[in-house]
Amino acid sequence: MGRTRFKKSPFRILFIVLVTASLCSMAVSGCGGNSTSAKSMDAQANLEKVLTKGVKPNEMGMVMVLEYHRVAEKESNFIRSIDNFKKDLETLYQKGYRLVTFHDLMTGRISVPAGTTPVVFTFDDSTLSQIDYIQQGGKTVLNPDCALGMIQAFHKQHPDFGYTSLFNVMPEMFDQAKYKKDKLDYLTSHGFEIGNHTLTHPLMSKLTDQQVQTEIAGLAKDVKGLDPKLNINILCLPYGSEPQNKALMFNGSADGTTYHNNWALLVGSDPFYPMYHYKNPGQVIPRVQVMDYDVVKGTGADGSGYWLRYFDRHPENKFVSDGNPDTICAPAYMQARLLPKNLPKGVTWLGY
Ligand SMILES: [Zn+2]
Repeated sequence: MGRTRFKKSPFRILFIVLVTASLCSMAVSGCGGNSTSAKSMDAQANLEKVLTKGVKPNEMGMVMVLEYHRVAEKESNFIRSIDNFKKDLETLYQKGYRLVTFHDLMTGRISVPAGTTPVVFTFDDSTLSQIDYIQQGGKTVLNPDCALGMIQAFHKQHPDFGYTSLFNVMPEMFDQAKYKKDKLDYLTSHGFEIGNHTLTHPLMSKLTDQQVQTEIAGLAKDVKGLDPKLNINILCLPYGSEPQNKALMFNGSADGTTYHNNWALLVGSDPFYPMYHYKNPGQVIPRVQVMDYDVVKGTGADGSGYWLRYFDRHPENKFVSDGNPDTICAPAYMQARLLPKNLPKGVTWLGY
């Protein structure tokens, strides 16, 4: 309704916006500050600007947490080829996806430009193919064909793509013992995130309560040994297998180490709705494995190729930002799907 009215009479809306904005600023200067209404007028003005550009924000739409394992020459099960990884970066960028941290996505603090869609990269198993240091001309440098090397190079060319990922680590941590701490320090000081992928990668459903806690606390302790300031609060379930006692994914202790996780990551397979949407996934979060979709053979139907195609065909179901992290902006009728209690502090609903 609001949008139709705006289309019919943009000048009337502009007039109302300007008058209210000036009244609002008078109120601000007159009574020593009414920042809430000033903020909401800014938000409204931003929305009008965005709509004028033809962008239809939908921050009630679905988002994806993408899942990578190894990156190598040849594409295979749980291996993304180097060529395809480079194509992924290009495709996502061209389709308007922008990298955000898992924490920002899950807490609704999403700061990407208007018209773009947040996406999270996750890498499991902390293999050398993800972060590889090599010697070149007497110097230690990042292998340009490891995952981080390719993300770094892409970010240099396209700074607005974002520069972050979640690495779900195991004790071997990228398979170069002498660089373990350097790699971890690089990640944490450059806005990357670390998740707990357990000590030995077991099927959690087969373990006793004690074993589950030993697996999770053990890895947490290992990482603390390298960086005492780092508090991991994301558990990445090996094979997506949940323990019998689900509470142990989030809280537990073993051998003097206590852990607390806010989220547990699955292995498959769908996009999901944000935390303030009534259909949100809670604390156990699905991920979309990165793989191509073959329409004829039907292979890869759970993967990123399928879902990217789905969102091309159903753009109305995709999260599209209004460029303002202080508002959740979407067509007015979607307000019925909002869980206001799940909105981050200071973030308000803005329908149109
Ligand atoms: Zn794994």
